[in-house]
Amino acid sequence: MTTNELLRFDREHIWHPYTSTIDPLPVYPVKKAEGVTITLADGRKLIDGMSSWWAAVHGYNHPVLNAAAKAQLEKMSHIMFGGLTHEPAAELCAKLLPLLPPSMDKIFLADSGSVAVEVAMKMAIQYWQSKGDSRKHKFATIRSGYHGDTWHAMSVCDPVTGMHGIFSGSLPAQFFIPQPSIKFGEPWDDEAMSPLRDLLEKHAEEIAALILEPVVQGAGGMYFYSPSFLVRARELCDRYDVLLIFDEIATGFGRTGKLFAWEHAGVEPDIMCVGKALTGGYMTLSATITTQPIADMICSGEAGCFMHGPTFMGNPLACAIASASISLLLANPWQEKVKRIEEQLRKELEPAFGLREVKETRVLGAIGVVEMKKPVDMATLQRRFVEEGIWVRPFGKLVYLMPPFIIKPDELSRLTTGLLNVLKKPVS
Ligand code: PLP
Repeated sequence: MTTNELLRFDREHIWHPYTSTIDPLPVYPVKKAEGVTITLADGRKLIDGMSSWWAAVHGYNHPVLNAAAKAQLEKMSHIMFGGLTHEPAAELCAKLLPLLPPSMDKIFLADSGSVAVEVAMKMAIQYWQSKGDSRKHKFATIRSGYHGDTWHAMSVCDPVTGMHGIFSGSLPAQFFIPQPSIKFGEPWDDEAMSPLRDLLEKHAEEIAALILEPVVQGAGGMYFYSPSFLVRARELCDRYDVLLIFDEIATGFGRTGKLFAWEHAGVEPDIMCVGKALTGGYMTLSATITTQPIADMICSGEAGCFMHGPTFMGNPLACAIASASISLLLANPWQEKVKRIEEQLRKELEPAFGLREVKETRVLGAIGVVEMKKPVDMATLQRRFVEEGIWVRPFGKLVYLMPPFIIKPDELSRLTTGLLNVLKKPVS
């Protein structure tokens, strides 16, 4: 296939994320990706500012992860997990557990982030059913959240910014409270807990769990809020008998400057989801983890087990790569790298704040966000970024960078300079 044939076929037959088939946004064919460089079919090289949506923390085509994949391929790429088990899954779970909140004990391996969220929500419902309280079948969450594209995950995404407003009539209605008003780094004021307190006061009897992206809200708004909110939310959940779910699918594996974002607050959830960077961005794999008492309660109920079991559960290839990815992360000074990226992003994105169309810039860990006053024209901006030799995919009013941790200072400067060059011209 020539590049033109590929593009024509793609345009005619292939659906891309959140893209029209009638008038699709342009796509750029990629020939290869290595380190932080994406090489397009026409030979142009782009510095990656997205880590393939939070996932590729080690960059692309990494020899250690390639070796893990090849070694596992020689043994088996997949085997069903019902009635069978294997070393890649056991090794991965043994590596994960010590990195998680101490109370986390039982790991359910799932396919994708959205499925991990579905699993977490099902766990919460089954927990209360087993406890004899089937009235608790709803969920509470904060506005501007994003938890995935499957049915119940959609129901806890922000009804406006969470991309699923169109389905609102069909989705289960959940309880939403405002986004935490106190930003990361701002002084705490307990008044910020009133909406959650009031909600639980009135509706805790119906609420199975509160689900949150801890500290950093991703695709729903790229917003960083005070960790104290999590401390108080934990207290309220305990007081009102509501489970607490942390969705660490985007925040996990170092992105916010801590290995997992719960560490900013030091409070533990009852159920936790991880995904994305779990395999270093190589393959889809996620995990939903809970405590022994919760797992025991679920399994002592009517069903006698947790009612979920996907075909590709515990996929050995994905587990072997995830296991290698975790070792690679821990063997490298990821904290220093993320800190350095944070400092550089803070310094180099600051000039964006002076631009006429920019509302705010914010940085936490290896995440740099430029919030515009108005939504941007994604296709035009994307083309201009490519012309600048960088890969950045904005959405709505948000233009943001979350590069692989291996990015070198001069490569990061090329990203921030390219981004500023584009934003200096009118973008909406
Ligand atoms: N939860 C969060 C916080 C996410 O950022 C995402 C994806 O962006 C998901 C869940 C869904 O993950 P996936 O796209 O792998 O289904």
